[in-house]
Parts: sequence; C-alpha cells; structure tokens
Amino acid sequence: MGEIMPVVREIEEKLRKLKEVKEISVAGSVRRRKETIGDVDFLVVTKNPKKVMEYFVSLPGIVKIWGKGSTKSSIKLRQGFDVDLRVVPAESFGSALQYFTGSKEHNIETRKIAMDLGLKLNEYGVFKGKKPIAGKTEREVYKVLGMEWMAPELRENRGEIEAALEKKLPKLIGYNDIKGDLHCHSEWDGGVNSILEMAEESQKMGYEYLGISDHTKFLRIEHGLNEKQLAEQRKEIDKLNDKFQAARVKFKILQGAETNILSDGSIDIKDEALKKLDYALAGIHSN
Ligand SMILES: [Zn+2]
Repeated sequence: MGEIMPVVREIEEKLRKLKEVKEISVAGSVRRRKETIGDVDFLVVTKNPKKVMEYFVSLPGIVKIWGKGSTKSSIKLRQGFDVDLRVVPAESFGSALQYFTGSKEHNIETRKIAMDLGLKLNEYGVFKGKKPIAGKTEREVYKVLGMEWMAPELRENRGEIEAALEKKLPKLIGYNDIKGDLHCHSEWDGGVNSILEMAEESQKMGYEYLGISDHTKFLRIEHGLNEKQLAEQRKEIDKLNDKFQAARVKFKILQGAETNILSDGSIDIKDEALKKLDYALAGIHSN
C-alpha cells in the first residue's frame, strides 16, 4: 500500500485534470486500503473514451501495454504492478464502483440481499426486472438494498453487511482522531530530528502530545541513552514544555524510553532513573 499509493494518487490527479474525465475513482483493494495489493483499478466516466485511453497508455513509466480498448485498457508500470482503466456509463458509475471495489465476499452477500428483495445487482446497476432503479451513486445502490453506505475499508464480509442493514455501522478511526504518538526516536539516539523539530511537526499534525522513546544503553549500536543522558534529555524536554506553556500552546512532550529487557529479566536502566520518566517501553532486542 505504502509503495503503490503515491503512484496511484499521481495517476488519479493526472486523469482528473483531463477535461474529458467527468468522474474518476480508484476501486479494488486499493480503495479498500488493503495492506497488500494485486493490481490497481480505475473507473472513469467520460464522453470521449478514445482521448482518455490515448492519454492513459501514454503515461510516463509504462513498461508494457497489455491492452487498449474503448472500455478497458491495461498497463504495467515500471514499479512492477498493473493498472487497469475502465470507462463506465455515468448512470452505472455507483454500481460499477461498488462492484469493482469488492471485496468478492462482500459482493456475494450484497447480491444475495438484492435477490431476497426480488432485485438484481450487478456492475451496471440495481434492477427490478429490466428496469434500473439505482446505479448512479454507491449511496443509492446501498440504499435500495436497505443499507447505509459504508466505507470501502469495511467491505470484507466481516459483519459490515449486518451492521449496515441495522444502521449500526462503526465510525472509522481517521488521522484526525490520533492525538499523539508514544513511540518516537530523536537525534539523541541517532535519529534525524531534534525534539523541538519533532514537537513542531506534531503540532502541525494536530497532535496534543509527543512521547520521546529513545533507546537505552544496552543498545549501543542505536546510541542508547544511559541514566545520565536521560536526565540531560529531561532538562531539554522540560525547557521546551515550559516554552509551550508560556506561549499557551496546548501541547506536551512526554519523556519515555525504549528500554531493554535483559536476559535475566531485568531492565537496563536503574529504577531511580525509570521513575523520572513519564512512561517506559520495554522490549527484548537480543538474547
Ligand atoms: Zn523504537
């Protein structure tokens, strides 16, 4: 996901800028934000498929064109994955998006629900007999099936269908819900940034606190801190916190440490020093 996402966003932005592209969305496992991804699927609505496809197969970084047609084209990028682009009718964009987003397991269940209601659900829409009754947006597709729209991340048939039918879908935790980070390394143990730089960046991200958890002395290779260095670091952190308080910035740096559990079960930092930390992590890094 981390490797693919920047490339996906770049392609999406380029396509979105074409005046011929009326709508665009990524679908498939990328849209469901799976950790690992097979290939990338894009859906577009356009009145000029020829132009859009021409543009698509001439994107930079293409090492192979598997196929080029008026409704589907497929390319391989030098990063090693395939990208498919499909042109779908505007009135089917929602149902196509629902269909191509998956998962397969989720779609099997949604089709069953449609059948139970005497309807037919496929990539072209929801049909009562031959008459389309939904398809333009995903929201209306789910609605005619008696469900709330749900975030793609949930669509794995792990209870989301039942929750959507009962209108009891959970709220996803987003970046804005994250209030702080308790596992960060600073320049004190060989990291790249100073504590102040990290604090400032954290504030930009909307965090309320930042925990510095540098390695301790057993990990010499990671420039682990000893008791004396932890005490010096405390002074730096206290000073920064005083500054924030004086400036009425609602933000606090916590001092932690990523200590080592030694082979006899003890911790590599003396209790008196541990006591002065705000918190401590403890890990087995060897032995
Ligand atoms: Zn760490």
